[in-house]
Amino acid sequence: MTPSPPEDVGPVADELAARIRHLFGRSLHIRTLDTGSCAACESEIRLLSAPHYDLHRLGLFFTPSPRHADLLLVTGPALRVMDEAVAKTWTAMPDPKVVVAVGACALGGVYPRDPFAHGQVDDILPVDVYVPGCPPSPLALLHGLLVAVGKLSDKAGALTFVSDDSPEGSDPR
Ligand code: SF4
Repeated sequence: MTPSPPEDVGPVADELAARIRHLFGRSLHIRTLDTGSCAACESEIRLLSAPHYDLHRLGLFFTPSPRHADLLLVTGPALRVMDEAVAKTWTAMPDPKVVVAVGACALGGVYPRDPFAHGQVDDILPVDVYVPGCPPSPLALLHGLLVAVGKLSDKAGALTFVSDDSPEGSDPR
């Protein structure tokens, strides 16, 4: 059987790159967090860094440190054993920050009654964007990131920055 060609992500990717450049003037950093997935969602996420999708050219990078992350990409059904890791990761991330729940497990469609899991990520984190699929395709992930960038921009606009050089309440950006 001939493998199907990769999806054409050109329009979504170009829009995403343009928005990141326009809204933030720098690249965005993503921390991934697996709360008990089967690893297929992670495989699709990793594909985003492959040459065909080339996430880095869009100004998006994965970071191992939550302290450098703007965006948290969460997979899995939120196993209870992960509660402490989830809380520490979320607390370590600076504001503004957004959460993207990835895959049917994270959205509550696979383990809704498992006693070892919350069953959905929005029971433990303030999810901003939901990306369905089992697993979601890289194109679906890019769509989710595009929406998340808009939410991040809204949150950044709502923040008030105070510095020694600026009058209180002004935004020095
Ligand atoms: S949503 Fe599907 S692919 Fe993703 S972790 Fe759950 S079972 Fe695996």
